[in-house]
Amino acid sequence: MAGPPTLQFLGAAGTVTGSKYLVRHRGQQILLDCGLFQGLKELRLRNWLKPEFSPREIASVVLSHAHIDHTGYLPLLVKRGFRGRVHCTAATADLIEILLPDSARLQEEDAARANREGYTKHHPALPLYDLRDVKEALKLVERHPFGKEFPVAGDMRATFRHTGHILGAASVDLAIGKPDPIRLVLSGDVGRYGDPILRDPDPVPEADVLLVESTYGDRLHPPDPMTELERIINEAVRRGGPLVVPAFAVGRTQELLWFIRHLETAHRIPELPVYIDSPMGTEVTELYRHYTREHNLSLTQLADAHGSAFRTAREVMVHTVDESKALNGIDGPFVVIAGSGMATGGRVLHHLARRLSDPRTSILLPGFQAEGTRGRQLEEGARTVRIHGRDIEVRAQVYRLEGLSAHGDRAELLRWMHGFQRPPGACYVVHGEPHAAQALTATIEEELDWSVRPARDHEVVEVLRNPEWPA
Ligand SMILES: [Zn+2]
Repeated sequence: MAGPPTLQFLGAAGTVTGSKYLVRHRGQQILLDCGLFQGLKELRLRNWLKPEFSPREIASVVLSHAHIDHTGYLPLLVKRGFRGRVHCTAATADLIEILLPDSARLQEEDAARANREGYTKHHPALPLYDLRDVKEALKLVERHPFGKEFPVAGDMRATFRHTGHILGAASVDLAIGKPDPIRLVLSGDVGRYGDPILRDPDPVPEADVLLVESTYGDRLHPPDPMTELERIINEAVRRGGPLVVPAFAVGRTQELLWFIRHLETAHRIPELPVYIDSPMGTEVTELYRHYTREHNLSLTQLADAHGSAFRTAREVMVHTVDESKALNGIDGPFVVIAGSGMATGGRVLHHLARRLSDPRTSILLPGFQAEGTRGRQLEEGARTVRIHGRDIEVRAQVYRLEGLSAHGDRAELLRWMHGFQRPPGACYVVHGEPHAAQALTATIEEELDWSVRPARDHEVVEVLRNPEWPA
């Protein structure tokens, strides 16, 4: 007789990156999320290890949303033999067509730079994957609407439900077995309630087993990011130099522009040149016009080519690398928004390398900064950071702005969990650093009285029907 379905935590257990959950059921294997490890070197090295499963034997991958820590391993999975289907929402499919090629480019650039400048122990340094692997991966994608069950593999089916967070982001409700399935629910990344741009997360009615994220499980977001951003921008203007903002191209860039535009219109900040040094950010902004049901902005608000809701008074799109480098010569107060969001790569590194040691510079960290990233080092007050093999002294003023986060805080995560009509039989806390995962676990025990604990890396658990439910 076949045993119960099992679930193995292969990432985002005790950390926020590398989301990967392997489900085995009646000889079928599927992955929920397929994320890359980012941040700490010992985590990044895990991307290079031979996986604990055979990619060839994976029938399907189901993606909760497009962020690289949930999708960036996909090209490598394909490179290592995966030929199954990749299931995601339509907006996620469009976003990974932008994000995965960029991820490959970053890998290729890193390897090339390491070879050129000789700071590698490997000769030659090779990229983890390249654009060809990405192209192969994108051929396997199948798009699914929200709220409609689709077959995944064998007698497993899944349903996506909105979670806010970014365009296309979903929770995954996996029904295992017929006719009376066991329900395994992955929260994905849960967004905010009352966000000015994205819609609220939708509740999920029930789960036998729940995996819930905990990025901000130990904190409450400050209530008014608009006022905080106003203060930071005005201080940056008085300091006289640029405000450099490492920001994700998806979501964060658009949100910053929306806030800056509102502050300008209300005359709470001066109209500054705002350089969007992110061709990807511009492409993503376009997608808001296609997915109007996923956000609160009307087509009129998004009327012009770049989305007028996301256009500040003196906005400048920076397209080429030369245009980007030309910003090095500009003085005086201005804003530059560039990726990557945790300063792990991308064009923002050049701006940081050029500006960090100037005390007139301000740096704004508008999102979560994972352990081991330069963003986290800056957040924690590092005196120097290493960029492209050089130590750069930090004399700039560094700000963080948590209120702009795309992740719900402790109260918002609880609000989402209150949506379940019955308690899950087992709840595993994932996608959080240990302190955050512990804190959310304690909160769930206290407030919901569920059976809950943090997921342990690599462990295999059985996916069982909630014994307390009537059959
Ligand atoms: Zn995410």
